[in-house]
Amino acid sequence: MSSTADPEPLIVPRAEHSISRSNISQNALKVLYRLRDAGHAAYLVGGGVRDLLLGHEPKDFDVATDATPEEVRQVFRNCRLIGRRFRLAHVFFGPEIIEVATFRASAIPAGQDGTDDDGARTENGMILRDNVYGSIAEDALRRDFTVNALYYNIADFSVVDYAGGLEDLKAGRLRLIGDDVEARYREDPVRMLRAVRFACKLGFMIDAPCETPLPELAPLLGEVPAARLFEEVLKLFHAGYGLHAFEKLRHYGLFAQLFPAADACLARQEHEFPMVFVSRGLDNTDRRVLDGKSVVPPFLFAVLLWEPVRLRYEALLDGGTPWADAMALASHEVASAQQRHVAIPKRFGMPMREIWSLQPRLERRQGRRPMALLGHPRFRAAYDFLLLRAEAGEVDPELADWWTKFQDANPGDRAKMTGAGKRRRPRRRRKPKDAAGGSGSEGSERVAGLQGRAAGGDGDG
Ligand code: ATP
Ligand code: MG
Repeated sequence: MSSTADPEPLIVPRAEHSISRSNISQNALKVLYRLRDAGHAAYLVGGGVRDLLLGHEPKDFDVATDATPEEVRQVFRNCRLIGRRFRLAHVFFGPEIIEVATFRASAIPAGQDGTDDDGARTENGMILRDNVYGSIAEDALRRDFTVNALYYNIADFSVVDYAGGLEDLKAGRLRLIGDDVEARYREDPVRMLRAVRFACKLGFMIDAPCETPLPELAPLLGEVPAARLFEEVLKLFHAGYGLHAFEKLRHYGLFAQLFPAADACLARQEHEFPMVFVSRGLDNTDRRVLDGKSVVPPFLFAVLLWEPVRLRYEALLDGGTPWADAMALASHEVASAQQRHVAIPKRFGMPMREIWSLQPRLERRQGRRPMALLGHPRFRAAYDFLLLRAEAGEVDPELADWWTKFQDANPGDRAKMTGAGKRRRPRRRRKPKDAAGGSGSEGSERVAGLQGRAAGGDGDG
């Protein structure tokens, strides 16, 4: 499939680079060897090669080959073909999936929209479908950044570089492949988010010609399906560098495209706390990720969207709407408007709104309500959220302290704290059937269960 016009790559032999097979997943190696033994070219490519060369542990290993997806399927029994936009083979080894992609040619040249016979399709310069197979050189040049276009050849263990990625890797530079930077962003505007993500993840600087057009091209994100942006947002904010990513996204005007209502609030904030609140929330999330703790999308989105919810809630209260209705309405409005930009799946949107709806309920400390709240499946998340609000100076820290003490208190002290004991005669014969009557630690366990389920992702529909 090699074309005559292919450029000559820089080939670095095994003795002159740092990639060792002992750092590559056994399953990825199996895939590479099996393809090679079946007579195909097979390379490790993308983030795996980049991270190995940087001495980082790769998140996953992707394989590129000259075998078509159907030919790949013939080599592996444990294999499934997926994807429309990019047709790929997934080879399964228990929980590990090795993605095997056939070399692809570049899409239709920029400026020419349409569908050709082989299945490439573009619209307004944006790639919609991309199933034209090509040579390894073509495959390299249609990738996003030069450092993501390095190949590790299983045939001789060399590293193959068609785009100058090795030099950029040494320089700590993110550079889009090709001269027409704007066209590359137009083909796939998500590359703008990827630029920010890799700059944060790798500590690289974005090459000036790739950085300069970001604010002007940011509105192109409006053309990307909102569901895809949800995935990208999670990659940006749940990988341990969310605060840094947030600052960069705001700097380039990309955050405003993802979260317009939140951005507008932050841009014209009168008090410091909305910014402090989001920054602290993201910083907490980063620390949890780095400590290996679970993080869940509902909390992240609750943090990012809180300021518009809070402002709308206050306005509705001022207009005379009762507090519970005001919160329900504000939550619904903000969440619905957000769906057009970054689509939050229902299974995450519901708990997100619950975290918000519990906030005014946490202000009501009299009677039996606080006990009932302790048993609410979203209590722990709502309490963490309240702590953040207190830290940011939005609510009186005394309220957060009260809830901290209330959880730790014994039943007698709890009754005193809420005044609940005064109104009722103690029950003698029946044990309290209220499951929420347990200790604070029981409450935490329930929440830990919830977080585990939510962190498990897709299952908790
Ligand atoms: P990581 O997995 O660490 O987040 P990665 O570079 O492996 O980083 P993936 O999203 O897994 O990123 O993509 C694998 C490879 O596919 C990339 O390295 C790049 O070569 C190519 N690629 C991914 N997304 C795009 C895109 N939007 N445009 C062009 N090439 C892309
Ligand atoms: Mg990857």
